[in-house]
Amino acid sequence: MKWPALHWQIAIALVLAVASGWWLGDVPAFLTFCDFAGKMFLNGLKMLVVPLVLSAMIGGIGNLSESSKIGRYGLRTLAFYLGTGTIAILTGLLMVNLLHPGIVDGKPAGPLLGLDADTGKVMESVKGKGAGDMLAVVVRLVPENVFAAAASGDMLGLVTFGFLFGYFVSRLPKELHKTQRDFWQGIYEIMISIAKVVMAFAPIGVLGLVAPIIAKTGWSAFRPLAWFCVAVISALATHMLITLPIVLRVIGRVSPIRHFRAMSPALLTAFSTSSSAASLPSTLGCLETRAGVPRRITGFVLPIGANVNTDGTALYECAAAMFIAQAYGLPLDLPTQFTIVLAALLTSIGVAGIPSASLVAIALILTSIGLPLEGVGLILAVDRVLDMCRTAVNVFGDSCATILVARLEGEDGILGEKALPGRQPLRDASQDEAR
Ligand code: ASP
Repeated sequence: MKWPALHWQIAIALVLAVASGWWLGDVPAFLTFCDFAGKMFLNGLKMLVVPLVLSAMIGGIGNLSESSKIGRYGLRTLAFYLGTGTIAILTGLLMVNLLHPGIVDGKPAGPLLGLDADTGKVMESVKGKGAGDMLAVVVRLVPENVFAAAASGDMLGLVTFGFLFGYFVSRLPKELHKTQRDFWQGIYEIMISIAKVVMAFAPIGVLGLVAPIIAKTGWSAFRPLAWFCVAVISALATHMLITLPIVLRVIGRVSPIRHFRAMSPALLTAFSTSSSAASLPSTLGCLETRAGVPRRITGFVLPIGANVNTDGTALYECAAAMFIAQAYGLPLDLPTQFTIVLAALLTSIGVAGIPSASLVAIALILTSIGLPLEGVGLILAVDRVLDMCRTAVNVFGDSCATILVARLEGEDGILGEKALPGRQPLRDASQDEAR
């Protein structure tokens, strides 16, 4: 019998996870099995992340022979990240302003949801917090110890190191350059091969990860927060199904449907793991083998994107902060909304690609608009399910950035398309050597 394609296997596992989480959610043996299967799968993915990020970045950037053009890649990547991130946040803002999930019958929903807004507590928790915390994100860009950063999963620091290492590999004299480049590309190939083995277990891992979430969350948690979930999910859907496809079509001139198809295993992995870092092996694999993006581009755009470009997270941070502010009855004037938008954009850069990482950023935003950290408690019940959705959007956003950079660089064969007219692909060092 021929097995269905991996994305179908994962999709079937998701349906089974919902059903079994619902029916078997209180059977201890089932939960023990889920815990085991989920952890094994997640660990398998996570163990690859550090060597994969480093080898992809060093191999990718180190292979660029025209290093002055690294700047061009960088600028395009950043412009895309900031542009789509801002649109995502504004979409979230719009939905929350339209649906007012934090207001019930014209009154703040806080007391209904068990919140008591104690002003004394509010002031205390805000004290001493502010822009300084945001600067911490910038400080994290330069890790004190690169091995400690790798061991503690501080990906932002690792990306800086990988970028610098890759850049100076590209500047090495010919002989040394070849040795370094071949070494890191070898590591990368090995990591991708291991990733394929781990991904073969994705269906069972997904079942183990998702079933307990369904068992724990249940529908009762959704009811009081239903409007908040509706606002977040419709904003995420707008960004993923309308905004980004328009960008792909208009700027990249590729078929969004083909791109969705190419990325489906990675999107399902992101949805099931709630971790864009853990999904990185699958995202890289899909972009290279299914979408046809060369490694010198995936290696540059993706590892940075997985850490910096988090459209779904930025959108969620904004929507959650607005919702909590509404529930507390805080007047949401224009300056407050502007503060939330800016804070969401800045903090989303520092949010790690792991489950529930945005909660920390949301706490930061709350303090910057004068609300107590306890407000975060309001959204905890539904956070995991919304995390699954926003992580899929994060990964999709990164993949769109990669496609766009590849198209603008004149690469041929991306998603089966001919190169855009008048654009020349960047040479890589191996082509130079062959000459
Ligand atoms: N789980 C998200 C990610 O991995 C981060 C977050 O929004 O919590 O991309």
